[in-house]
Amino acid sequence: LVELRTVNKHFGALHVLQNIELTVHHGEVVVVIGPSGSGKSTLCRAINRLETIDDGEITVDGIPLPEEGKALAHLRADVGMVFQSFNLFSHKTVLDNVTLGPRKVRGVPKAQAESEAMALLERVGVESQAHKMPAQLSGGQQQRVAIARALAMRPKVMLFDEPTSALDPEMVNEVLDVMVALAREGMTMIVVTHEMGFARKAADRVVFMADGQIVEEAEPDEFFTNARTERARDFLSKIL
Ligand code: ATP
Ligand code: MG
Repeated sequence: LVELRTVNKHFGALHVLQNIELTVHHGEVVVVIGPSGSGKSTLCRAINRLETIDDGEITVDGIPLPEEGKALAHLRADVGMVFQSFNLFSHKTVLDNVTLGPRKVRGVPKAQAESEAMALLERVGVESQAHKMPAQLSGGQQQRVAIARALAMRPKVMLFDEPTSALDPEMVNEVLDVMVALAREGMTMIVVTHEMGFARKAADRVVFMADGQIVEEAEPDEFFTNARTERARDFLSKIL
């Protein structure tokens, strides 16, 4: 579903993505971990075309990423993204946050968009907050709204970039639970996270990045108990 072929990117002299090869199949959940600065966020942003790449190819559902315009808006709808900071529209209600994309990009009529949004808000457990402003919600609730907002576009794949790292500890699980449920329902997901409990529960594969390269890929159990590279073992010894 998502394919990266020999993808390279530089920020000036920094070679932030180095010959990245990655295939994510339909329904697969891939967790990306690695030290700070290893290029995890850049990788996610490239798949959503929030960053351009220097060479190589990225395709989603067989289609190369569009450059601009309507095609790009549709790509961003197909590739849902949830960031560390919740990124909700602060001057719009929760419900409007969720309905805006489907109405503008997918052309869904208001009433239909609202009933679908309410169903999604219920699914992530925040339906009672629908008419509030984002600032009136807790971080965990805001992040669940952000997930509902991405899902409202009926994405083919969901990207999560450290979705729980800005949350107070007691709110981490309410967001992870929603993500685990999504994974079990068969959503294709690429998740940057250091929540190893999530990786063990939900990931089909762990991808370990360091210095702009994919250093190691393995099933979670294999990776956590038997990492092949010194680099990965060293990283795991610091976070586990
Ligand atoms: P973290 O775990 O801290 O989120 P990361 O693995 O997500 O790290 P990236 O955010 O992808 O890392 O950044 C990789 C490298 O690229 C870092 O050295 C960062 O400083 C650099 N970088 C990221 N964005 C830019 C930019 N827009 N311009 C210049 N350098 C950048
Ligand atoms: Mg990052």
